[in-house]
Amino acid sequence: MKVKCIYGIDYDSNIYLITGEKNSVVDTGTGLHNKRVVEEIEEYVNPKKIDQIVITHEHFDHTGGIKKIKKHLSENSKIISHKKAAFKIEKGESNFAKMLGTEMESVPVDIKIDEGDEIDMGNEKWLVLYTPGHSEGSICLYEEKSKSLISGDTIFAYGSFGRYDLPGGNANLLRKSIERISKLDVDNLYPGHESIVEGDANKHIKKTLQNTSYIWYIMTNPRIILNKFKWKENTDFKEIKVEYTHRGAPNDKKMISGEEIIDVGRSFMKTNSAEIPFHRVIKIKYRDEIIFERKKHTWI
Ligand SMILES: [Zn+2]
Repeated sequence: MKVKCIYGIDYDSNIYLITGEKNSVVDTGTGLHNKRVVEEIEEYVNPKKIDQIVITHEHFDHTGGIKKIKKHLSENSKIISHKKAAFKIEKGESNFAKMLGTEMESVPVDIKIDEGDEIDMGNEKWLVLYTPGHSEGSICLYEEKSKSLISGDTIFAYGSFGRYDLPGGNANLLRKSIERISKLDVDNLYPGHESIVEGDANKHIKKTLQNTSYIWYIMTNPRIILNKFKWKENTDFKEIKVEYTHRGAPNDKKMISGEEIIDVGRSFMKTNSAEIPFHRVIKIKYRDEIIFERKKHTWI
């Protein structure tokens, strides 16, 4: 069994090609770079010999290319996703697609899977783990012999994790899904975006768990930050500055001065000009003192 990563460009997800007895494609990108994707697939396997396209979750950056890739496969090839993802894929609506100036076409899903099912990919059986939090229909796929995990947008390398602020997202569910995944023994991590890890991926997942746990702790106990720095009730909120990253532009940092801090119930920080999901925050400063800092952030 071989796992080949076709790295996503722009908004595209990574696309995995798993070859062996059952040739499989996992995720499809937006479809906006499909020519290149198909050319890359052809370098490794004849598309007519691909048995199935498996989808990790319903978001357009993973599903937009389904129809375009499927065109090159044999008629008998199947589309597979979690039943909750299938509902959205078959509906075919996506605000994300509209934002990118295109449409998400509705696509029938042939096989609807759930927790505990197994999918034959390559030469092995991969276990389906239902891991909601980034979206309602998110799954991870685990192969025990090679200790490989396809993690969708639940967990990324270097301690990063998926957004929970999009429709269908839920911070608490994401935290629980990550906690669950962290109990697996994983050597190879194949996430929905950015770097893959081949060898000792447990370290990366452990870091992700630490980051999520910390953020959850602050989200549910916001006064902890404040008390730690001898916060006074009459502190001037206008002197708080929040540094955060912007969606789609990981290096585009912006300083915003805020009037309020953490709105616990909604896990967002309200500022003068924006609402910032807490997982995007890198630093919180009061005057020149850093009262919160996180080295690794997430942007997917
Ligand atoms: Zn994604």
